[in-house]
Amino acid sequence: MFSKILVANRGEIACRVIRTARRMGVATVAVYSDADSDALHVSMADEAVHIGPSPPRESYLRGDRIIDACRMTGAEAIHPGYGFLSENSEFAELCKENGIVFVGPPAAAIEAMGSKSAAKSIMEKAGVPLVPGYHEAEQSPKRLARAADEIGYPVLLKAVAGGGGKGMRMVRNATDFEDALAAAQREASSSFGNDDMLVEKYLEQPRHVEFQVFCDRHGEGVYLFERDCSVQRRHQKIIEEAPAPDMTPELRQQMGQAAVTAARAIDYEGAGTVEFLLDRDGSFYFMEMNTRLQVEHPVTEMITGQDLVEWQLRVAAGDALPLKQAALQIRGHAFEARVYAEDPDNDFLPATGVLSYLEPPRESEHVRVDTGVLQGDEVSVYYDPMIAKLVVWDENRERALSRLARALSQYRVSGLSTNISFLYNLATSRPFREADLDTHFIERHHEALFHASEDDRIQDLPLASLYLLLRMEQATRARAGDRDPWSPWNASTAWRLNEAAIHSGAIVLNGTEYEVPVVEIGSGENRRFRITAVGKSVMASGHLDGNELYADIDGHRQRVTVVPNEGRFTLFSQSGSMQFSLAQPDYGEDDSGSVAGVFTAPMNGVVVKLLVEPGSRVGKDQPLLIMEAMKMEHTIRAPREGEVTEIYFAAGDQVIGGEELLNFIPAEDD
Ligand code: ADP
Repeated sequence: MFSKILVANRGEIACRVIRTARRMGVATVAVYSDADSDALHVSMADEAVHIGPSPPRESYLRGDRIIDACRMTGAEAIHPGYGFLSENSEFAELCKENGIVFVGPPAAAIEAMGSKSAAKSIMEKAGVPLVPGYHEAEQSPKRLARAADEIGYPVLLKAVAGGGGKGMRMVRNATDFEDALAAAQREASSSFGNDDMLVEKYLEQPRHVEFQVFCDRHGEGVYLFERDCSVQRRHQKIIEEAPAPDMTPELRQQMGQAAVTAARAIDYEGAGTVEFLLDRDGSFYFMEMNTRLQVEHPVTEMITGQDLVEWQLRVAAGDALPLKQAALQIRGHAFEARVYAEDPDNDFLPATGVLSYLEPPRESEHVRVDTGVLQGDEVSVYYDPMIAKLVVWDENRERALSRLARALSQYRVSGLSTNISFLYNLATSRPFREADLDTHFIERHHEALFHASEDDRIQDLPLASLYLLLRMEQATRARAGDRDPWSPWNASTAWRLNEAAIHSGAIVLNGTEYEVPVVEIGSGENRRFRITAVGKSVMASGHLDGNELYADIDGHRQRVTVVPNEGRFTLFSQSGSMQFSLAQPDYGEDDSGSVAGVFTAPMNGVVVKLLVEPGSRVGKDQPLLIMEAMKMEHTIRAPREGEVTEIYFAAGDQVIGGEELLNFIPAEDD
């Protein structure tokens, strides 16, 4: 075994490789760019070498600098992770020339899989099933059109040099062929400098099922079963699982055997993934082979109990495969959800910013979190905006899925938008629970996933309202401290002499304000709230325990999680997730029953300065308090003339988004 390795990567995968190396007693060297000088992977490694400015082209893609770092530190091998130089055959060759072991396949194997058409020819010869198609050198439009006719429409045009879904066009019929071909060729030549095309039968509803393979240099090869990665957006995977739902032992063996045959056909060594399209009738077709460790490898580790990075290091050091095929078994079911800094409501646009608050769910034998960031880190424009991979395991799919939903609802991130609530909606949606999977899953179930229908959300309004009431009470109680417990302003109810205990407030959902009047009935153990939302009244009671709300709505008891973030709240319930906020009270239309006034922190931050004292009479728009969050100051102003009766924080105090800052009583109009 090596005594020292260099990890030519960053983020979660660099941390993940370092963890295994450390466990095996192998010393580690990290490399880092300017932007990563304080990154987690750097502090985890035994040594770290600066390799250049932040853009990958000037650092993580600089093979020469990485080789220099190896020489300087005496590392014997390089683990390339995924992305960056992991599938670069020239870099693999460069390592070899310098007497450094590249933890990956030989350069020739990387090259063989680099061209889609060359890879297909190799697979065809090896007897691995291919999607019916044309992948010859002759590229005249006439020849390609004839190929499409022979294959039968619909067909898919693919750039031979393609990747990342570019230069790909589906064609429904012969009339559209010419235009589609021209468009695909333009895209391919601008992206890859090569406009050669292959033509394939287009499968209408395939699943993406891939097999993990491993080969050693002693001629042995095994498969570590499959992963279903059908849930994709823009051809990018978001939730992966192992094993694939509805996979039969016979089909698994057939596909696994084909995957090993594919790897052997190119004299493969190390970890690889053979991707297949699985059609509805059970036919499967080779799509491509990735000659590296995949992002989603942890689901395979969870169901096999093996550490694939350990396998990689052992095989690269010349050992035989740790286990033979017969010794490998599937236990239980695992999911991986990729937690990204991005905005699902805005076409999954990547988000950047500081992770001002970050608390992943607790790790256990069921929950694993692979991450490369810590609270306070910045998600920058330079690299992939993935925050973490959340991996869960349990005895079967149903139980693993409920673990996934639970863990997602416990993931706390603030400072930037994430896809967590989208993932939660996905994991709890009926079609996903029923494993109704194919590569168009997200498009097909757009409605259910994005909750385009307002109805589901409105259903949860009483939960949101109950939460806000209980939270306000809690805050009031906490702050009352040793102050006068009999002051009506410390009372948690909307107590007013000779008036019913009415709270009124509006909740904002997707930009729409809903008036949600609440009447408090009874007291002590018997206290309940009558909450009216969009014309429907329910009786509610409950209590809060941290972020958990134990609610009883008309006798339906449920535990839901509510997470505050930047003045908004995300509620995770059985019907999915929803985001809401408290509308600023409109004092112009103040009605006699309303609570005095609610001033909530717009986001997590620090109180910088108090500009008034309790008891101050203030005019409209007068600044009351300054908060700082994410290096920006926010001034809280008086909405109208009135009195500030209480301020709950002192300068320097930390506040959580959504917390009440002060109590304000508007002046009487007359
Ligand atoms: P790229 O290398 O550009 O990512 P792939 O060949 O890996 O392209 O295909 C990416 C995705 O496109 C697949 O995961 C699948 O969703 C879809 N796809 C590819 N080939 C076909 C096909 N013949 N029929 C239907 N969908 C396909």
